[in-house]
Amino acid sequence: MDIKGTVALVTGGASGLGAATAKRLFDAGASVVLVDLPQSAGEDYAAQLNSGDTGARAVFAPADVTNEAQVQAAVDAAVSLGPLRIVVNCAGIATPGKVLGREGVLPLETFNKVIQINLVGTFNVIRLAAAAMVETEPVTTELGGPERGVIINTASVAAFEGQIGQPAYAASKGAVAAMTLPLAREFARSLIRVATIAPGIFETPMMAGLPQAAQESLGQQVPHPSRLGRAAEYANLAAHIVENAMLNGETIRLDGAIRMGP
Ligand code: NAD
Repeated sequence: MDIKGTVALVTGGASGLGAATAKRLFDAGASVVLVDLPQSAGEDYAAQLNSGDTGARAVFAPADVTNEAQVQAAVDAAVSLGPLRIVVNCAGIATPGKVLGREGVLPLETFNKVIQINLVGTFNVIRLAAAAMVETEPVTTELGGPERGVIINTASVAAFEGQIGQPAYAASKGAVAAMTLPLAREFARSLIRVATIAPGIFETPMMAGLPQAAQESLGQQVPHPSRLGRAAEYANLAAHIVENAMLNGETIRLDGAIRMGP
């Protein structure tokens, strides 16, 4: 599917991987709706994107991905810009927590919050966006189609190799990877593809809290290119997924063959 002329809804679009993906799609001619928390940098980032003259529009839609009404309003904002064909789920949190930590047993609410945002929030966006996407006319390109659109989710290397202190995060990301294939098979009849990117460790604000030495040591766990991933590399894969009609139902690791753990 061509990116130009479409509308993309990107959650977590104010920061990190989501912000880079929104820019990549915007630069390729898509109008973008940045879905992020009200206190995020979404408003400023949309204004920054709009300062160029690409003919496309960037709009900030403040929303918590777990909130049905707010996500529906963001989907409506996307539909008002044109045919919603691209959804990228990047919103997420990585709150760590050992089950038997120094502060006592891990509170259930810590576990629930990670599952709510990373898994239930992703699913909430998928269900409401898909309902809008089925209303669009399918498009056909030289290579692919007809198709209505594509939904891209974000798992993590933790889905396959979770570390100590990541039971909630690993479970949430493993579940995002696991629902990719059943959703792709269900939505196939609606001409909508679903794919998931499972990043290794990327240089984003989520990782910025780690000390420099820890970041360098994590980079050395990447056999090649022996560094952390860059958000633009995630964005390039997201753009490729949009353009490649054969790519469906996959969870793709994007991690430089990282070796996790000791
Ligand atoms: P980030 O913290 O830079 O961006 C995440 C964005 O999600 C933030 O703007 C935040 O405000 C938003 N967000 C959080 N909770 C939200 C909610 N309830 N509703 C709406 N928006 C919400 O992080 P990032 O590194 O860009 O991460 C993007 C995605 O990639 C996340 O799902 C993360 O788990 C995943 N991931 C990141 C890495 C990495 O190394 N950076 C690795 C694997 C997976």
